[in-house]
Amino acid sequence: MSHPIHVRETCIGAGLCESSAPELFAIGDGMRAEPRVDEVDGELLDVARAAARACPMAAIEVDP
Ligand code: SF4
Repeated sequence: MSHPIHVRETCIGAGLCESSAPELFAIGDGMRAEPRVDEVDGELLDVARAAARACPMAAIEVDP
């Protein structure tokens, strides 16, 4: 089962997620992180959840 990921507007664009998981996140033109994929599964699900836990703004959402 795939899990959609989102970045909320509370993102401050500091880039922690892009540094730790460049396969999943990139800082976009609006200086906010943007997911590079719509959904994650398997090992990438673990990576996405770790990034969500580490985000200082709790801006990353991974649907259960
Ligand atoms: S770690 Fe959180 S606050 Fe920092 S760029 Fe990523 S989503 Fe934004």
